[in-house]
Amino acid sequence: ATPAGAKPGPRRIALANQKGGVGKTTTAINMATALSTTKRVLLLDLDPQGNASTGLGVPRNERGEGSYALLVGEKPLSELICPSKIPGLDLLPADNDLAGAEIELVGMEDRERRLARALDRDPATLARYDYILMDCPPSLGLLTLNALVAAQSVLVPLQTEFFALEGISQMTRTVERVKRLNPGLSLDGIVLTMFDRRNNLSELVARDVRSFFKDRVYDTVIPRNIRVSEAPSHGLPVLLYDVRSAGAQAYIQLAAELLRRDRARAKERAA
Ligand code: ADP
Ligand code: MG
Repeated sequence: ATPAGAKPGPRRIALANQKGGVGKTTTAINMATALSTTKRVLLLDLDPQGNASTGLGVPRNERGEGSYALLVGEKPLSELICPSKIPGLDLLPADNDLAGAEIELVGMEDRERRLARALDRDPATLARYDYILMDCPPSLGLLTLNALVAAQSVLVPLQTEFFALEGISQMTRTVERVKRLNPGLSLDGIVLTMFDRRNNLSELVARDVRSFFKDRVYDTVIPRNIRVSEAPSHGLPVLLYDVRSAGAQAYIQLAAELLRRDRARAKERAA
């Protein structure tokens, strides 16, 4: 809880799903970009594949130290953040050593809390941001756990396909378990991605997910869109690659919905 009168820190959102290829990184990059037009955003790349760093145009050979140095090396956040090409959006890149972190962390003290601790150690840097988005790897290992312990919210990108519901039940169980370490954590967002309106299955899965998770599912649906998949190879979010594409427009709406939901939540809390 925030002490009365104190300025709450940035909103911390982890994008997680143990499945790969469901749109975590795409959602992280594009939501961060859309939010950065009105908010100050920091994106933490916690996936050793470093797709968020690449997608924002920071190639592997130009990445200095990043999330590995923060989590394992205990370097201060302020020394590791780098600006992106997008005004209002900074990045903590995934450095080349991050692939080893999953194993190295196992033997370390406070292994699930290292990210949370690192953020708490640097309130002055956190105060520069309104949103911290964390792009997680496709597993429920220690990197994802660190994100969940450091986050207030989990946003789960869910590909509208047959096994979608099965995958998400594992995610909800994980969130429940992490609540022992981070009681404030809530799964308050499922985003349907790669939706194909020509495919009946997409509609069926979307209906199932909504009937189960109700209003925790975002109204905004991200369509499958070729421009979205082309953008990363140009080192650009689709919002900058082709802002008129259906994918870019959907991500603009998604960010607006996130802001709306956050305002409603803040109001509820104040009441
Ligand atoms: P994850 O981070 O969950 O592994 P990604 O965001 O990297 O998933 O997406 C997996 C692949 O699907 C990438 O090649 C990405 O460009 C592509 N992709 C993601 N979202 C869409 C979309 N809405 N339409 C088309 N391709 C997409
Ligand atoms: Mg990814």
